[in-house]
Amino acid sequence: MLVVMKQSATEEAIARVVETIEAMGYEARPIPGHQRTAIGLVGNDGRVDSARLEGLGGVLEVISVSHPYKQVSREWKADDTIVTLANGTRIGGSEIAIMAGPCAVENEEQILGVAHTLREMGATILRGGAFKPRTSPYSFQGLGVEGLELLARAREATGLAIVTEAIDSEGVEIVKEYADIIQIGARNMQNYPLLRRAGQSGLPVLLKRGMSATIKELLLAAEYLLAEGNSQVILCERGVRSFDTHTRNLLDLTAIPVVKSLSHLPIIADPSHGTGLRSKVTPMARAAVAAGADGLMIEVHPQPDMALSDGAQSLYPEQFAELMKQIRVIARALDRGLVDMPRVAV
Ligand code: PEP
Ligand code: MN
Repeated sequence: MLVVMKQSATEEAIARVVETIEAMGYEARPIPGHQRTAIGLVGNDGRVDSARLEGLGGVLEVISVSHPYKQVSREWKADDTIVTLANGTRIGGSEIAIMAGPCAVENEEQILGVAHTLREMGATILRGGAFKPRTSPYSFQGLGVEGLELLARAREATGLAIVTEAIDSEGVEIVKEYADIIQIGARNMQNYPLLRRAGQSGLPVLLKRGMSATIKELLLAAEYLLAEGNSQVILCERGVRSFDTHTRNLLDLTAIPVVKSLSHLPIIADPSHGTGLRSKVTPMARAAVAAGADGLMIEVHPQPDMALSDGAQSLYPEQFAELMKQIRVIARALDRGLVDMPRVAV
């Protein structure tokens, strides 16, 4: 439920609404906005008597949010959410943010080398898994904390921000010591204890769509993060299961405009996992930008043939450079640009 205040409402009137919501046993979340001041009522609001709030001074109206996801919805917050990282990268604004790197951190030479190359080519965020959720228990599971330390070293050397996955609740506590963004992978989109812990971490969270999740389920998973008080959330379309076997997944680009209309959260696309095929990554990256994505996550490996995971979908660095060139043109056609490395001296 949302209490919308009149433009003329005083600070005292707003404080009175907050007090009343709290006295009713709910949490009050003031929502700053360009158009209006509103105060969200958080909790199971099924039986709230709205008349008590409507009668307060300065209140314009009390709206019942129609979607099951509340804080994630545009009804709750009309303005786009912009996630800002320590290196100045903004995700969700007019510019498109590029995250790139190998599927997994494998060794120092690999991650530092590729980080310098990617920075040179215009990425501002380095991806790389240290804890890998693999379909087979016998596949490479990642370097763990050693991988996180290598990522931190790459950040120090290049100024790139770090996005890396936490696969369980304890992992959140470790990853948050190193990362700029905690990634929640497709296999864990509905791991609710993990979502709650990531929500409490205080760090931005990249939430990837589950491989058989509906858009509504994705938004409800994001609601878990916002319910913990974390509004720095980025959604990621990474492809869903399909009946067709030509590609690894079906990259659902429709999700981008659909999410944009339903939610204020930024949404990026991952055409690497979305297609599983190196030759299909660049065309789908172009399409994702054209569809309005706020960013891209691209797997790039210095030697894809030697990669310990996802080599077949990893771009060669030169291919990534070409991709950057092409999406710059598409972004410009949409009156957008790419996020450039801001205020970082290397
Ligand atoms: C990844 O980004 O490396 C990854 C495992 O992706 P997803 O969770 O989308 O499969
Ligand atoms: Mn991967």
